[in-house]
Amino acid sequence: MVILQTMIETDICILGAGPAGATAALQLAYSGISCIVVDKAVFPRDKVCGDGLSGKVLTLLGRIDPGIAERLLAAECKLDSFGVNFVAANRIGIEIPYKQGYQKRPGEPRGFVCKRLHFDNFLVDEMKRCPQIQLLEGVDITRHTLLDGGYLLSDAKGDVEIKAKLVIAANGAHSQFTKEVAGIHMEPEHYVAGIRAYYKNVGGLHADNLIELHFIKKILPGYFWIFPLPNGEANVGLGMLSAAIRKKKINLKQLLHDTVTNDPEMRERFKNAELVGRIDGYGLPLGSKKRRLSGERYMLTGDAAYLIDPFTGEGIGNALYSGRMAAQRAKLALEADDFSADFLLGYDADVSRVLGPELKMSTKLLKLIKYPFILNTLMKMATRNRELRNLMTSMFHEVDLRKNWRSRCFM
Ligand SMILES: Cc1cc2nc3c(=O)[nH]c(=O)nc-3n(C[C@H](O)[C@H](O)[C@H](O)COP(=O)(O)OP(=O)(O)OC[C@H]3O[C@@H](n4cnc5c(N)ncnc54)[C@H](O)[C@@H]3O)c2cc1C
Repeated sequence: MVILQTMIETDICILGAGPAGATAALQLAYSGISCIVVDKAVFPRDKVCGDGLSGKVLTLLGRIDPGIAERLLAAECKLDSFGVNFVAANRIGIEIPYKQGYQKRPGEPRGFVCKRLHFDNFLVDEMKRCPQIQLLEGVDITRHTLLDGGYLLSDAKGDVEIKAKLVIAANGAHSQFTKEVAGIHMEPEHYVAGIRAYYKNVGGLHADNLIELHFIKKILPGYFWIFPLPNGEANVGLGMLSAAIRKKKINLKQLLHDTVTNDPEMRERFKNAELVGRIDGYGLPLGSKKRRLSGERYMLTGDAAYLIDPFTGEGIGNALYSGRMAAQRAKLALEADDFSADFLLGYDADVSRVLGPELKMSTKLLKLIKYPFILNTLMKMATRNRELRNLMTSMFHEVDLRKNWRSRCFM
């Protein structure tokens, strides 16, 4: 792309067109507010991920506009999944459906597995339907200078310059804005490193496409996953707390290779499997610590705000939720003509109210899974006790019920 010096002025500039940035832009557009979205990539682009989309995604997109949810439901690039198979280190697993006694029919709660290449491009196509959104692709914003009336954002050569009253940073786990402006840096105790591979012909996939989380002893605290995709493919990977990787000097690619070739169960399931493409890795900034997410003329969203669920590793749903909340606060800031750190603190309060309880709970669960015997015992009990299984099904999705896990008495 050849760009001759461009200077653009806008009220709101969104850095990053991934799930957080796209959602913020869509929420603004459906409220009649214009914005500029800048991404260093040109879409469709890949993003290293497990490709698992929880029910949060459809719910949230439907809240912006039911038409977006309908178009996602109709998209053919994804596979419906009706639950999670949760397997402890002793190999006892329980299947936790998104709804007990589910039927595969329209309206039944479900998640999806969809390659990010397609899902993120779906969101970009949604943005392209909105005349209020100006999307600049292939522009890597590396400079952010706070001036009197707003931020001056530019690429390294200064070919593109954007002056914005307000910045929504949605530029992912490696966000320079998060480090340089918000002063938030990677901490190994609050960060997971993950790798992902695509395989064809993995054996033993569930007929209703349940996603599988295997809490294999060698990978704790973390897990190995298999998420079924359309066309007989599966997203296979593992993620582990960075502090543990450093301490035990683990090579994740080697660990993945060992798991699929030597683990007694996986060896059988992968005997006819074929690796498609490369194995790639990326970071997962966890929401296991409360941080300040806004400041003078900016708000952080999605991975740039460290909002990934520490227990499940789910980040897309929280990226969407935070993107929408940032857009709602941006609307209020424009109406009040107030972009001060004090005013934007309302965004932190919203994130804390909506996502805080869930993140706190998952942080406690992450600490518990360091001890394999806890999950082992729970799974043993659950296979024998239908009521406990039903309780766990509800707890997986209802945060209030998950609170019970903290209580020793309940355990
Ligand atoms: C191995 C792995 C597995 C995962 N599995 C799952 C899963 O199954 N389910 C789930 O929900 N979550 C999963 N996650 C987490 C999920 O990928 C993230 O939470 C999600 O992508 C966050 O969305 P985002 O919009 O905040 O950031 P991103 O998706 O990272 O998007 C950021 C965008 O910003 C752009 N950008 C970056 N820097 C600049 C710049 N300087 N200038 C302009 N643009 C820039 C990038 O090109 C990108 O398009 C996984 C993560 C990893 C690493």
